[in-house]
Amino acid sequence: MRHVVPQRVADGRDTSVAGLAARAAAADTADPLAHLRDQFDLDEELVYLDGNSLGALPTSVPSRLREVVEQEWGRGLIRSWRDAGWWDAPERVGDRIAPLVGAAPGQIVVGDSTSINVFRLTVAGLRAAVGRDPRRTELLVDGTTFPTDGYLAESAARLTGATLVPCHPSELVDRLDDRTGLVLLNHVDYRTGELWDLPALTAAARGAGALTLWDLSHSAGALPVGLDRAEVDLAVGCGYKYLNGGPGAPAFCYASSDLQDRLDQPLAGWCSHADPFGMEPEYRAAKGATRLRTGTPEILSLLSLDAALDVWADVDLAEVRRKSLALTDFFVSCLDALAPPGSFRLLTPREDGRRGSQVALECDDARAVMATLERQGVIGDHRPPNVCRFGFAPLYTRFVDALTAADALSTCLRARVGIGRA
Ligand SMILES: *Cc1c(COP(=O)(O)O)cnc(C)c1O
Repeated sequence: MRHVVPQRVADGRDTSVAGLAARAAAADTADPLAHLRDQFDLDEELVYLDGNSLGALPTSVPSRLREVVEQEWGRGLIRSWRDAGWWDAPERVGDRIAPLVGAAPGQIVVGDSTSINVFRLTVAGLRAAVGRDPRRTELLVDGTTFPTDGYLAESAARLTGATLVPCHPSELVDRLDDRTGLVLLNHVDYRTGELWDLPALTAAARGAGALTLWDLSHSAGALPVGLDRAEVDLAVGCGYKYLNGGPGAPAFCYASSDLQDRLDQPLAGWCSHADPFGMEPEYRAAKGATRLRTGTPEILSLLSLDAALDVWADVDLAEVRRKSLALTDFFVSCLDALAPPGSFRLLTPREDGRRGSQVALECDDARAVMATLERQGVIGDHRPPNVCRFGFAPLYTRFVDALTAADALSTCLRARVGIGRA
């Protein structure tokens, strides 16, 4: 028999495991997105809460990749650059991502890693800002950012002579002034799962005369982004997290159509040339988002991402957001009900408007806790020193998964505080 758990949630609902299980089952039955899980190749028994780090495998991918390798590469050989549409795939796949991030066509190209694209667009953004107003030499960077963004921002600042100003998103509005050239921000904090107000911060930066570069690694495919509507200048996003493109799938770059033709990007290779096959000795930048390409596209992983995007046909992003919030909210309610008081500290904001699609918490020995959960078939991840992260990819995560994970985690935390091992 399971230990009797104190019922601490004051909303009158049954917060026993059985009560929570009934709620999970009802939510899964009512979930309008539930059928999408069938489009992923997931073990029935596994609770996979790491789609914010590596998205699950869509069932459309293996057969498409086999065709790309055996037919397009094997038989078509070099003709496939033309006949199979390989050459234009960076723009074509970019146009398929566009509706997921609220962008009109022609503003996104896919290729290279998120890291490379952060560098590319940071340098291009700084050059555009200084080109417009030579006083605008400061680069404001979210000081809590995923380290790669910080490292690359620093390198971009060294290269361009810009001054790096670390700035928490919550203090951005006060830090903007007439020296600010570019602001590099994360839409969702990779560690805490906090969602920043992209429209408001973009408007503040724009109002102060600065350009914006948003990293959408933890929002593209998890919630509506609305790049055009917010008048974002530049953005990068990851192909292998919520877009499920596969390990190391290429990332994407967004440049608003008003800015594109003023961009001078640092990795100006032949694929970003106005006439790549003219083999001209002088560089002339292509028009449009194509100018953000560099070299030969990584066709296999790019077309894996292309196939993975099939799952989004007919998916309503407002529904995705509703489910994501309901899942993360339910997971937190389960922890509130089941885990010993004081055994964890929630890092993710409880308010819906401030939460992405993951829940992060701090507890003692987080690394060992997550290893224990993994042995029980519950996969999340650990970030040093003591953060446990649980990502809720709305297309394939079930409410029952949230309960199973919260129950396993609570059992683990209870054992650690030395109670409840009845
Ligand atoms: C996941 C992630 C990256 C990943 O960069 P790679 O170049 O793919 O290794 C970069 N930035 C942020 C904010 C991320 O969350």
